[in-house]
Amino acid sequence: MSSNIRNFCIIAHIDHGKSTLADRLLEHTGTVSNRDMKEQLLDDLELERSRGITIKARAVTMRFKRNGTDYELNLIDTPGHVDFHYEVSRSLACCEGVLLLVDAFQGVEAQTVANAFAAMEHNLKIIPVINKIDLTHARPEEVAEEMMNSLGTDPDECVRVSAKTGQGVDELIDCIIEHIPTPTGDPAATLQAMVFDSNYDDFRGAITYVRIMNGTVCKGQKIRFLKAGSVHEVVELGRFAPQRQPCDQLKAGQVGYLICNIKSLGDVHIGDTISIPGDKHAPALPGYSRPKRMVYCGLFPSDGQDFTELRDALERLSINDPSFEFEPETSEALGFGFRCGFLGLLHMEIIQQRLENESDIDLVQTAPNVTYEIINKRGETISIHKPQDVPDPGDIEEFRQPIVRCNIIVPNDYIGAVMKLCQERRGIQQTQEYLGAQRAMLGYNIPLAEVVYDLHDKIKSCTRGYGTLDYEMVGFEPADLCRLDIVVNGSRVDALSIVCHRADADRRGRAVVKRLKLEIERHMFEVAVQAAVGSRVIARETVPAMRKNVTAKCYGGDITRKRKLLQKQKEGKKRMKAIGNVEISQKAFMAVLSDS
Ligand code: GDP
Ligand code: MG
Repeated sequence: MSSNIRNFCIIAHIDHGKSTLADRLLEHTGTVSNRDMKEQLLDDLELERSRGITIKARAVTMRFKRNGTDYELNLIDTPGHVDFHYEVSRSLACCEGVLLLVDAFQGVEAQTVANAFAAMEHNLKIIPVINKIDLTHARPEEVAEEMMNSLGTDPDECVRVSAKTGQGVDELIDCIIEHIPTPTGDPAATLQAMVFDSNYDDFRGAITYVRIMNGTVCKGQKIRFLKAGSVHEVVELGRFAPQRQPCDQLKAGQVGYLICNIKSLGDVHIGDTISIPGDKHAPALPGYSRPKRMVYCGLFPSDGQDFTELRDALERLSINDPSFEFEPETSEALGFGFRCGFLGLLHMEIIQQRLENESDIDLVQTAPNVTYEIINKRGETISIHKPQDVPDPGDIEEFRQPIVRCNIIVPNDYIGAVMKLCQERRGIQQTQEYLGAQRAMLGYNIPLAEVVYDLHDKIKSCTRGYGTLDYEMVGFEPADLCRLDIVVNGSRVDALSIVCHRADADRRGRAVVKRLKLEIERHMFEVAVQAAVGSRVIARETVPAMRKNVTAKCYGGDITRKRKLLQKQKEGKKRMKAIGNVEISQKAFMAVLSDS
């Protein structure tokens, strides 16, 4: 009966104890016996464990008997990081309530606020939970007050727990049963289910995670993905307990999985609605959107031979993660490789780390850039994913960049330092609120390009690690941007073009040519290294002519040492790229790309 079902998420800032609390809930409901309990059962990817963040949502069904009644508690785990906002919002759409978890020492942080606001937008019942009350420095009273000031939660409603010792967890389970509303929805109505996650199993194909909103889905039945437009037969369905546990049907209000012989995750869209084939299907659920890639970078095998190997590795990854995309790219400087699109910087790091873990290709990665929009002279809007695609200045009517709203929570002592940093990054302050006696929340609109570079690290370092940042897209806004080109003896070096603010062009152009001058070896002729915006040269350095004799350093004598040097020079040559009549080593490219 759906009146015995509770569907909820735990939302929290990173490290506030979400995974640990999930473990305790599994244990206290008897879903997992003590013996089977290994820590952080829900984070099943090795990488997630090593980074301590939950990347993909998981779901688990807990059975619990209370006062003679059987309850079905469905815990939907959400990714905590800003890059995965969309996935969080789809998970929230499957719940009636959330546990808003806050560390009793750290207090309210940027992602606490972002997640709480998202839960409010979905009209969910919020149960405020203060965790880690076992810590000697715990300050639950103050934290309850911070939560009231920033989120409007009632301090008297805060449940105090220690996910580590289990203290308060039984009370929390009572609270979930008493306060989270039961799902509405009619098991006899036409099937309408929300896809809130998916993962890939090498043997079974795509596993689709669903919440049934209306109707009933049965084994063997034909279903239709409304957005994707595809029809499939349900080969297996069931619940996570926490391993997959097949059953015959799932009804309105329930959460579980479907297996339909789908060969690629690219065919399963998070946020899609499942219904029946034919024209009597239920309406699509609101809120579906395509994942937006906001950050791009080029990935090249440092040895050109590994190109096919890299392609295979990227393909394997994208089967598991449809929000990551890649397409072949040829760079004059770096050869054949791929341009890859990510949801954000963390997403990019995760993919790179997986590539490194799962293959042994030596990778060269170009500096990340964001997506830009350009309105050209013909009035067309074009989306730009790499700087060298920016048209010449004469063809640009308007240059637009993505702006994000940043919420930064800092101890009062560091407000000045953070404001200065945000101003340097062309941020425009929107709000300033005090959370309690000690901490404030600053709201800034900042160009995403300035954020992705290293804003988070900079905030951490200027606040001794206490500052936290969260951001969400505001939209594209016009800005005075330009494409800065690097020209070597008259040839433009595509891989080194960057998009930057016009006011920064001189400084950045000078820095790049200075650096490049140091890295380019002398040729028989003079080499001119220039930075230019359109046809205007803004910086120039010259590498003087002279053939460098590598053996000159060894004043006669040791012949083996000479041979070694010559051998080294030969190997270095293999990694040389010709730009016009000038040879530039790959090392030079990397030096410049990692600086800019
Ligand atoms: P998540 O990032 O929100 O999933 O956080 P984790 O569950 O991974 O917890 C982060 C850290 O806090 C881990 O080292 C946990 O052992 C620790 N932790 C979690 N809950 C408690 C608690 O109630 N008390 C104490 N002392 N430590 C806790
Ligand atoms: Mg976790």
